[in-house]
Amino acid sequence: PPAQGDSAVGKQSLPGVKHIIAVASGKGGVGKSTVSANLAVALASQGLKVGLCDCDLYGPSIAHMFGVAHHDLTSDENENIIPIEAHGIKLMSMGFLLSDSSPVIVRGPLANRYTQQFLKQVAWGELDVLVLDLPPGTGDIQLTIVQSVALTGSVIVTTPQEIALIDARKAVTMFAKVNVPILGIMENMSWFECDHGNRYPIFGEGGGAREAERLKVPLLAEIPINPATCQGADSGNPVALTTPDSPYHQAATQLMAKL
Ligand code: ADP
Repeated sequence: PPAQGDSAVGKQSLPGVKHIIAVASGKGGVGKSTVSANLAVALASQGLKVGLCDCDLYGPSIAHMFGVAHHDLTSDENENIIPIEAHGIKLMSMGFLLSDSSPVIVRGPLANRYTQQFLKQVAWGELDVLVLDLPPGTGDIQLTIVQSVALTGSVIVTTPQEIALIDARKAVTMFAKVNVPILGIMENMSWFECDHGNRYPIFGEGGGAREAERLKVPLLAEIPINPATCQGADSGNPVALTTPDSPYHQAATQLMAKL
């Protein structure tokens, strides 16, 4: 029998796209977009053709992180939107449709339609992996997305803090409902290392590892708090571009083994 929640919308694959991976977090601000961007960069550095779609209608940030926030969009002869390419990655983001000063005010049903259009009316071409940066939380929009495209799996981003883990578990439950496997957990903001090499676990210790153990899924990365990560995001050059042995690369290698 179909899983609960599976019946409302048929899951579609996207033509030419081999794998779709959703990056989710229950809670905002844990670094989901940062992780999505750098994971996409790390996957591309292994020779894969990678796309990245910012599904956050209300606070898109991927375009900024790749330094292409003000690019104009064009469409192909089939009226599909041509993604913007930056650092070898095909990008699509609500950020391309809006200026910084115009917050989108889109209510439920329209928001759902927008996000679906996003995914299905983009001329992705041939991709090995499409990374979906889901909006934070586990509401209607997230559910629509995970129900309407055929996901290979999901990656859960959390900090080690219990309050983030509680929300991450909600995301895990959402994916279970629609039969999408959890490919692993990426713990972000795991510690800060000072110039003397001391590590400070600002948001607590081991939360990601414990959650991974509980779910019997791999802990794909523990990512320290690093000012270069912020600077990279603000300058349009994700930090993984210049740190080839980053935790994002280790996560990418583990993910590729599962695809
Ligand atoms: P989310 O998508 O979960 O809302 P973001 O990716 O926007 O979170 O990250 C929130 C903020 O934290 C951003 O300012 C980002 O640059 C910063 N940030 C995320 N991860 C790290 C990290 N590992 N080190 C330093 N800053 C980080």
